[in-house]
Amino acid sequence: MDSAEYERKIAARFATFDQDGNGYIDREDFSAAAKAVLAEFGTTARSDKGQALFAGAEAFWQGMAGIADVDGDQRVTREEFITGAAKRLRDNPQRFAEIARPFLHAVIAVADEDGGGPTPDAAARVLRVLGTPAELAGQVATALDGDGDGRISEEQILSAFAGYCGVEAPDA
Ligand code: CA
Ligand code: CA
Repeated sequence: MDSAEYERKIAARFATFDQDGNGYIDREDFSAAAKAVLAEFGTTARSDKGQALFAGAEAFWQGMAGIADVDGDQRVTREEFITGAAKRLRDNPQRFAEIARPFLHAVIAVADEDGGGPTPDAAARVLRVLGTPAELAGQVATALDGDGDGRISEEQILSAFAGYCGVEAPDA
């Protein structure tokens, strides 16, 4: 990967986390993501699933801040993301993805409308409300159901998230 490609990928990952697009990642971005998912599936914040989702979002933010908020001001700037998070993303995306597990687990519970596991369609709805373009969301969601049984497992989602996060630096 050349450095322009690397910069583009890092910028895309940063934009994924900076949900409100104000130039830094903070707790608000994670709670906004939780709210968007709940709204999409008509789930209230006070329900058990809603509370679990906000708790997962907070844990995800704390994990992100622990890795990347170098100056401790409760904001992760693009520079902090590149220096703090990108190295972890590159060296061990699977471990990085583990900080997202409680959030992903809670998202799955919200998106799993009949108790059989989320369908690719439900996964596409989640990706769309989190800012993925509609066409791409459909493709990614279909690919997530690797064995084609019409349901997506937590492990499939976690490993896909790790794959998405794993960005190779040009000098790696
Ligand atoms: Ca933000
Ligand atoms: Ca900071």
